[in-house]
Amino acid sequence: MTDAPSYGFDTLQIHAGSRPDPATGARQTPIYQTTAYVFRDADHAAALFNLQEVGYIYSRLTNPTVAVLQERIATLEGGVGAVCCSSGHAAQIMALFPLMAPGRNIVASTRLYGGTVTQFSQTIKRFGWSAKFVDFDDLDAVKAAIDDDTRAVFCESIANPGGYITDLDAISAISDAAGLPLIVDNTSATPYLCRPIEHGATLVVHSTTKYLTGNGTVTGGAIVDSGKFDWSASDKFPSLSAPEPAYHGLKFHETFGSLAFTFHGIAIGLRDLGMTMNPQAAHYTLMGIETLSLRMQRHVENAVTVASWLETHPAVDYVTYAGLPSSPYNHRVAAICPKGAGGLFTVALKGGYGACVKFVDSLELFSHVANLGDTRSLVIHSASTTHRQLSEAQQVAAGAGPNVVRISIGIEDANDLIADLDQALNKASA
Ligand SMILES: *Cc1c(COP(=O)(O)O)cnc(C)c1O
Repeated sequence: MTDAPSYGFDTLQIHAGSRPDPATGARQTPIYQTTAYVFRDADHAAALFNLQEVGYIYSRLTNPTVAVLQERIATLEGGVGAVCCSSGHAAQIMALFPLMAPGRNIVASTRLYGGTVTQFSQTIKRFGWSAKFVDFDDLDAVKAAIDDDTRAVFCESIANPGGYITDLDAISAISDAAGLPLIVDNTSATPYLCRPIEHGATLVVHSTTKYLTGNGTVTGGAIVDSGKFDWSASDKFPSLSAPEPAYHGLKFHETFGSLAFTFHGIAIGLRDLGMTMNPQAAHYTLMGIETLSLRMQRHVENAVTVASWLETHPAVDYVTYAGLPSSPYNHRVAAICPKGAGGLFTVALKGGYGACVKFVDSLELFSHVANLGDTRSLVIHSASTTHRQLSEAQQVAAGAGPNVVRISIGIEDANDLIADLDQALNKASA
């Protein structure tokens, strides 16, 4: 099944990109555990290497199991193509790589996954790139941050560690007017809850490690291309619009049209950076995606129940979950993520840092781990872990201050989750 846009999400999450194995009839997508692929003859090999024919050469570039996952994620996001890679962080570098050059910058939201803040504020400097962090609710500040060297605008749809929803329509209007691509990290929402391309995103990135796989088994990432950006409209994106010396002067945009970014991602990005997803990881993620909508429905249902209960607990200062009427972002749910605000939120304890640590240590059913989007409920004290490298001001701006615990609600029985939270809160405030 390749293109059947008339199918619904629940059908596509099982069927998009996959077909019975032509060699064996295997109904489930086989794990093509191979490094290389036999060429029909020397002409076939030459055509593949010249990008004149699409096919398999070497698994750093493409692999049939990974290709099914790429097509499935692209379909669910409503994009034209996707490139999978070894982690969500790899996907972010792979998304920026064709756009950037030394001296160029991105304008990024302050409300991002802690590891992304570190990647953007520290590591990318080694490439001569930089990031300007702006409050994405302040649209004038976003506009003002864009300069002649800006090459992308970056935000999360539902921002980690939870509670914030980006007004993607307003942000994409700004990036469009500036002739820049908008990159949206849709990890926390998944395409079941939010489809950023429908709100003007150029590229969507994922940590497939989280909800898409859903069971905490493998790390992975993906970049989905909307196929809508005109890379040749300015001279800002020469990797895509100008002759590529590594392919005898081929111009990716002119040659591959709306698939230019995806082809570049494979032919240059994976070829030379090598941040490749392996077929085993693709298999686990394909297994997870088959039940994405069912899990997300339960994640949302449980998150609403648990967050509403927490909000009334005497040890709790406040809960930031956009699915609660008390959230200042509740009004964006209907437009941006109509099926719900996800399964991730933060809770601030009146007892501050000390109470948070005791709370996390007292939980029995919840696991204290640096992960989210698992079937099981997870918890982390961001300020002492994932957001530890950030200054306190950056922690607070990211919604991860010292008094805040991040909760990733699983798909267990909500009553059991509440009972566990209750006993831990009572210990933490004793
Ligand atoms: C986890 C995560 C990442 C990084 O993904 P990895 O797979 O851990 O590299 C990026 N963005 C968000 C929103 C995440 O939750």
